[in-house]
Amino acid sequence: MPRVIIVGAGPTGATLALLLARRGIPVTLIEATRDFQRQFRGEGLMPSGLDALTQMGLDPLLKTVPHRPLSAWEFWLNDRRLFRADEPLGSARPCTLVSQPPLLEALVQTAQRQPNFEWIAGTAVKDVLWQSDSEASQNENRVTGVHLTDGRILKADLVIGADGRASVIRKKAELILETQPKSIDVLWFELLAPPGYAADNRFCTVVKKGRVFSLFHGAEEGKMHLAWAIASTEPTEQKDWATTFAALVPPEFVEHFQLAKDSISPPMRLSVLVGRCPRWHRPGLLLLGDAAHPMSPVRAQGINMALRDAIAAANHLIPVFKTADTSAPNPTALDRALAHIQTEREPEIIQAQKLQAHEASRGELLRRFGLLRQGLSIFSPLVGPAIKQIWTQQQQPLREGITTVRLNLS
Ligand SMILES: Cc1cc2nc3c(=O)[nH]c(=O)nc-3n(C[C@H](O)[C@H](O)[C@H](O)COP(=O)(O)OP(=O)(O)OC[C@H]3O[C@@H](n4cnc5c(N)ncnc54)[C@H](O)[C@@H]3O)c2cc1C
Repeated sequence: MPRVIIVGAGPTGATLALLLARRGIPVTLIEATRDFQRQFRGEGLMPSGLDALTQMGLDPLLKTVPHRPLSAWEFWLNDRRLFRADEPLGSARPCTLVSQPPLLEALVQTAQRQPNFEWIAGTAVKDVLWQSDSEASQNENRVTGVHLTDGRILKADLVIGADGRASVIRKKAELILETQPKSIDVLWFELLAPPGYAADNRFCTVVKKGRVFSLFHGAEEGKMHLAWAIASTEPTEQKDWATTFAALVPPEFVEHFQLAKDSISPPMRLSVLVGRCPRWHRPGLLLLGDAAHPMSPVRAQGINMALRDAIAAANHLIPVFKTADTSAPNPTALDRALAHIQTEREPEIIQAQKLQAHEASRGELLRRFGLLRQGLSIFSPLVGPAIKQIWTQQQQPLREGITTVRLNLS
């Protein structure tokens, strides 16, 4: 029987496994963690990501996991609001925060209803299996399976590395990742949300006293998140974070940060890695999602790109495996499909990473130049509406996606 192995059950791996299994293709999904509760998983889904889930027929499933639409985006310079842009900003649906661990669990449970789906959790993949020398053609060596940390060797016609930014599959398959210069890390905090915040859940970005940070009500009831940008060279200080935040947050939150100080979690340091592999595939192997193109957290792109990668991959892979039926798929046709997937997805990834960098550079400009920040802050009632209009227009590709991605249901 032909078989696909997918390494990593993040948004890329879990959705692609489901799409393939539903079409009768035998899939083994391997996930290193047991319960999806790893250190951190992002929550923001843009309209393009929500649309991808709709195309996959997963709207009913989304309703069963904690989720919360954003009401608006607000930008604060010093103590003044530059502007507020209300969701859905001209889109069909608002940006929505979705709790990832229950979403991934529900995706895997749905896939488990398919007879040809195999789930291996709590075991990592440590290496890829290469075609033995005697089988090897004169051309490039083929990947024919994986080695697990528990000693097992699993064979497959295709191995898909969906194992995230630190991808083991990428390294073992010797595919190069070209990274952008590393500049920031994020300190992530959780605390109790102020009463009533959920009803008007603004994603507030604040630039004040040389600092940039964001706060919003997360997908889960009563939980506020605060993402604090720091230079990647800056150490994680042990400081009185409640007092630090109370001096910087918008005026309406000052009292809350004083009252809720004991609920502030210790900082979780998240490294931000952005880059792209010039080549996403080898014979018998494909990288997708962050493994192929780790995304910056700016404007919540990574999960959306992951879901759209899964759709593009399913469109190209299903015909190759369906044609093969019970025998192994034609290796030439399979490898051609892998190249087509990269060709189709790469332009959107390149453009999204450019737009993310552009957004980040504007924040950095305001952080570094106090006079510019002060001027915009003082004249915010005059300049705010025009800046809001420009910003809103520029968000459209980051919200709707840049290329057309449609799941082929035929
Ligand atoms: C601070 C921060 C905030 C972010 N916020 C958002 C956001 O709000 N919205 C958004 O769209 N994006 C966000 N992102 C980006 C987003 O998290 C990623 O782009 C997205 O998760 C990529 O999905 P993926 O499935 O490719 O990889 P991942 O989500 O990283 O999933 C990879 C999976 O593979 C598993 N795995 C790893 N190694 C192995 C192995 N050897 N064997 C088996 N399994 C393995 C991991 O446990 C994991 O479950 C954020 C990123 C950062 C750094």
